[in-house]
Amino acid sequence: MSGYDVDLFVIGGGSGGVRAARMAAQHGARVMLAEEYRVGGTCVIRGCVPKKLLVYASRFRAEFEDAAGYGWDVAHVKFDWPTLIANKDKEIARLEAAYTTTLEKAGVALVKQRAALTDAHTVQLADGQRVRAAYILIATGGAPTLGDPIPGIEHAISSNEAFHLQQLPPQVLIQGGGYVALEFAGIFAGLGSRVTLVYRGENILRGFDDDVRQHVRMDMEKRGIRVLTGCKVAAIERTESRFVARLTGGAQVAADRIMFATGRAPNVAKIGLKEAGVKIADNGGVAVDEYSRSSAANIYAIGDVTNRVNLTPVAIREGAAFADTVFGGRPTAVDHTNVPTAVFSDPEVGAVGLTEAEARARLPQTDVYRAMFRPLKATLSGRDTTVLVKLVVDGQTDRVVGCHIVGEAAAEMIQVAAVAVRMKATKADFDATMALHPTTAEELVTLRTKSASYSRAAAE
Ligand SMILES: Cc1cc2nc3c(=O)[nH]c(=O)nc-3n(C[C@H](O)[C@H](O)[C@H](O)COP(=O)(O)OP(=O)(O)OC[C@H]3O[C@@H](n4cnc5c(N)ncnc54)[C@H](O)[C@@H]3O)c2cc1C
Repeated sequence: MSGYDVDLFVIGGGSGGVRAARMAAQHGARVMLAEEYRVGGTCVIRGCVPKKLLVYASRFRAEFEDAAGYGWDVAHVKFDWPTLIANKDKEIARLEAAYTTTLEKAGVALVKQRAALTDAHTVQLADGQRVRAAYILIATGGAPTLGDPIPGIEHAISSNEAFHLQQLPPQVLIQGGGYVALEFAGIFAGLGSRVTLVYRGENILRGFDDDVRQHVRMDMEKRGIRVLTGCKVAAIERTESRFVARLTGGAQVAADRIMFATGRAPNVAKIGLKEAGVKIADNGGVAVDEYSRSSAANIYAIGDVTNRVNLTPVAIREGAAFADTVFGGRPTAVDHTNVPTAVFSDPEVGAVGLTEAEARARLPQTDVYRAMFRPLKATLSGRDTTVLVKLVVDGQTDRVVGCHIVGEAAAEMIQVAAVAVRMKATKADFDATMALHPTTAEELVTLRTKSASYSRAAAE
């Protein structure tokens, strides 16, 4: 690929870009990567990792409360927000350095600047430097959107700012019903804030199984989170030291912080896509084929900027597949089916495969197996909580096509269940697997009776 300054220019040093750059370099390519903010991207700097650290912090409250029933006296616990944030920031800085070292060791030239395309082979850096590349990979990720402009929207924060608050807000309003909204509701509530969640739809967690949605809401409310659905914030006013959110329908909620977790949009603006002949898809992301190739033959796009399945492991897999396809001589498409997903809310959710509604719409016959039970740990702690375990089965083939869990360690369980679902395990395979007792996971292999729908069962 002589005639070019580099074989590959990667725009964006997040989960997908870093993996693609490293693997392309290992395949022998001369690679340059531009990152305008911090190496590691959303996941490492202001997504999955710091979020999970805050989730861990928030869950100590329930552990301390539950400990009493087990004989512990933990009456005098104290929590310090600045300590948590400082320790979290230290860990994120360590990870950022580790990502940078990984790139350097692989021989990737790192430029810490914004980059944009001027044509299909030319990248212009913020300092004016131009780099000619045989191939270009767009891995610019996504950014939070705050929805329709409303009066006072400038007072709302997104998840980006929530990671850096100086103090724990005593009262928080979160607008949104997706996983980021629910996770921050759990974080703030666990750490001691009074939380109101406002969501315009009928119920939270759109796209998840209806049983899961109902169960999570019920359990969140038991933990003291106020959930208001069917309304949204119409205006935000600043008072002397706080904010007041006026909701559609007339209600008002006072809060020390108002956070909007109302979705994310692919970072496609001002990166020269038009100049390079790269088309945008209906979903707002860069349009790509199954090999992540865009409408320009030498330009590829991976991760959140394509708005396919916006999760870190997916971006990483797409980055690796790109490198194998273009520089490894092994064309590799990524399978976006049966991607396990989790919501680290309280209670936690793990899900893989079809929801019951999706299965009923697609399959001639759907069987559902469901258990809702009090976990053993809650017996001595006295905590009012239940676990939900649900299998969705193709009634004709007996294949387990969906698995949904709500409760402690749901995410850990679903990662393993995803292997079985991917291997096309049948319900008979699940039944033939010996239970591991006493666990929550054993319910996955001991579900014997076909179930009615959640609402009917709950009413019975
Ligand atoms: C609060 C939150 C929690 C999340 N939790 C999870 C989770 O638990 N599990 C999970 O799997 N996923 C989670 N995600 C999603 C996950 O973070 C993303 O799917 C993942 O980071 C996408 O990787 P990416 O490489 O596509 O983009 P990103 O990681 O966003 O990286 C893109 C990079 O490109 C840089 N960039 C953008 N434009 C330019 C430019 N023009 N020039 C130079 N650099 C540029 C950005 O600064 C950024 O560093 C979470 C996201 C958020 C916001």
